[in-house]
Amino acid sequence: MRRPAVAERRFVTVDGNEAAANIAHLCSEVMAIYPITPSSNLGEMADAWAAAGRKNIFGTVPHVVEMQSEAGAAGAVHGSLQGGALSATFTASQGLLLMIPNMYKIAGELTPAVFHVTARTVATHALSIFGDHSDVMACRATGFALLASGSVQEAQDMALIAHAATVKASVPFLHFYDGFRTSHEVSKIEQLTEDDVKAMIDLDAVNRHRERAMSPERPVLRGTAQNPDVFFQAREACNPYYQKTPQIVQEVMDQFGELVGRKYHLFDYVGAPDAERVVVVMGSGCGVVEEAVDKLVEDGEKVGMIKVRLYRPFAGEAFVKALPKTVKKIAVLDRTKEPGAVCEPLHADVIAAIAEYWAGVHGGAAPQIVGGRFGLSSKEFTPAMAAGVFAELTKDAPKNHFVVGIVDDVTGNSIDYDPNFNTEKDDVVRAVFFGLGSDGTVSANRSSVKIIGENTPNYAQGYFVYDSRKAGSMTTSHVRFSPRPIKGSYLVHRANFVACHQFHFLERIDVLSMAEPGATFLLNSPFGPDEVWDKIPAEVQKQIIDKKLKFYVVDAYTVAKKAELGVRINTVMQTCFFALAQVIPTDQAITEIKEMIKKTYGKKGGGIIVERNNKAVDMALESLHEVKVPGEVTSKIHMVPAVPEDSPEFVKDVLGMMIAYRGDDLPVSKLPSDGTFPTGTTKYEKRSIALEIPIWDPKICIQCGLCSLVCPHAAIRMKVFDPSAVSDAPETFQTAECRGKEFPGMLTTIQVAPDDCTGCAVCVNVCPAKDKEVAKHKAIDMLPKLDHLEAERAN
Ligand code: SF4
Ligand code: SF4
Repeated sequence: MRRPAVAERRFVTVDGNEAAANIAHLCSEVMAIYPITPSSNLGEMADAWAAAGRKNIFGTVPHVVEMQSEAGAAGAVHGSLQGGALSATFTASQGLLLMIPNMYKIAGELTPAVFHVTARTVATHALSIFGDHSDVMACRATGFALLASGSVQEAQDMALIAHAATVKASVPFLHFYDGFRTSHEVSKIEQLTEDDVKAMIDLDAVNRHRERAMSPERPVLRGTAQNPDVFFQAREACNPYYQKTPQIVQEVMDQFGELVGRKYHLFDYVGAPDAERVVVVMGSGCGVVEEAVDKLVEDGEKVGMIKVRLYRPFAGEAFVKALPKTVKKIAVLDRTKEPGAVCEPLHADVIAAIAEYWAGVHGGAAPQIVGGRFGLSSKEFTPAMAAGVFAELTKDAPKNHFVVGIVDDVTGNSIDYDPNFNTEKDDVVRAVFFGLGSDGTVSANRSSVKIIGENTPNYAQGYFVYDSRKAGSMTTSHVRFSPRPIKGSYLVHRANFVACHQFHFLERIDVLSMAEPGATFLLNSPFGPDEVWDKIPAEVQKQIIDKKLKFYVVDAYTVAKKAELGVRINTVMQTCFFALAQVIPTDQAITEIKEMIKKTYGKKGGGIIVERNNKAVDMALESLHEVKVPGEVTSKIHMVPAVPEDSPEFVKDVLGMMIAYRGDDLPVSKLPSDGTFPTGTTKYEKRSIALEIPIWDPKICIQCGLCSLVCPHAAIRMKVFDPSAVSDAPETFQTAECRGKEFPGMLTTIQVAPDDCTGCAVCVNVCPAKDKEVAKHKAIDMLPKLDHLEAERAN
């Protein structure tokens, strides 16, 4: 085995899916794919790389085939495995459930394979595209080995360990990591080289797999039907393979540790050597618990944790050996829910392992074990919650079957935690960016994370929270830069930099709630430093004063417009961030941003887009201004409630909280237990996301009604009415005599609902009535919303 010099490896900043896909591509000859969130881009990357002729470690280009469903993809993998090809697939959630019948067959025939799974919630009372282990847990009985990764680095490392172990064990592997939290987290990792991968794959084992291929040259019969006389015995015949698998995985992990330097075990213990309280967890929750353990141990507490790597086959003795002898209480955290089960699956395995092996391994009284659920459907899980679990274990009778991170006021299962428990050091840059789904905020932040991750010794992490309504909805980017590796995967809750890329968010979203005292606040504002203060809501002013925030404004839309970039403000805001956060010197940041622009747009749109973006970067800093913060709240503007005050109770208490991005605060009792919601509630949500809205000019309008007909949101309406109906209308309300012969003496109006309009301009594009004297002026024109908002709301 050749040991490559560490210098050959480079640090890259990628997401979990790219980290795993890279290994899958190098180790596979056939990949059958079918897209499902959040694993879609695994297959897309494999497909693109194969199309570009990228080879695997065997010197061939993997054959990538897209099937008609996940069931087809698993069937294709099954077939290619029987043909002797090294095969893989990617999936999640219901897609994985569709693969289960083939998984039983693949495992039953003792065939090496790797399924990479971005663990995602299985739809129950509602669909969810987010992450938990409910899909993976549904595969426990298939006979696949289940190997868990907890970070982007591990998604790469465990992917290779899975591919290396499966050929040796003749047991197929399901390698999984948390959907979105790991699959879409961008992080700086040390990338394995092709030589590393070659060194890890045992070619003798690969040949054994190939020799088992079904071939007319070596005819065998496989996949028969068996009767009661032999099926049972034959089923037991596979036992030795499963008994050997944990040892094989550990040997592969040891080989990996020797080669690469990162050491993994079936179960990794972290914490005080004499810990009395231990938490057991799997997946991205590991880093979060580890941060809590580090802090609590630093404070003198006897706590520790077990990271579960190989979940199936569950090596009970190895698990017990990994625990300190001193442990008195264990809390097992499951990221899944099995209604009606005596306890959740990992909890059950831990109980069984302790019952079977504690006396033989450590002797004496076995520890008390409780279990709890956390993080379903990517529910936020923080070190504070982990510390709450350790605090629960100090009680004489800690709660069993608890939940953490939500308030369960129905069955009383939730445990408390102190939200102020903090593990983050002051030298970590923690930034939160509020943007729109289409304004480029996420791509700018991805690029910032790459710039810092790949050009400085700092570690970088980026996680992007999307609204499932996509374009036109809010995105929140959570970004960290640290001189040390970043362990925990959770949102930024104490930001020392907050950027709001959309001025109108201030009216509806409490963007400063997570700003810590002394933080920097950057606002994209059409108002300059001297006039902005009284244009922001009083509630925002109060937080700026109370928290002593440093307040900056930039008119990014004007800069983008001047640079001919339309509404793409990303490079402007990115440049301002680097200038203010000073993670690297501004000059270096500008050079790197321009380099990134060249990489991103150089190939696609050619020089012109690069030129425009560079122009925006150059102009950005001239438009960035500090606001002198007055000492008192003076604004007459106030934040508006998420839904009108007179909305029905459910809309106010539940939907209103969800619309205000405060759904996390809702207790269990507020949610329907079977997923049934009232209908017709969209009308209460006023997203107010348009930057420009259509304004009507009755003098030119020919009253064709097309604008009203085409609006996809029914946000512009044409009405005909008796003049008496508008006798007390606001002064700005416009009418025209109705042209229709069937409405003599009636008036008409074209009225936009400014908070429902998305600013798509379809109505203006379709309007046929043009002003003969003023070029480009139509019967409706898109005009800046802020100039017309109050009047149009009243109208
Ligand atoms: S801009 Fe789009 S959303 Fe707004 S009124 Fe016109 S068509 Fe409707
Ligand atoms: S504003 Fe334009 S599209 Fe709408 S009714 Fe008038 S002429 Fe027709």
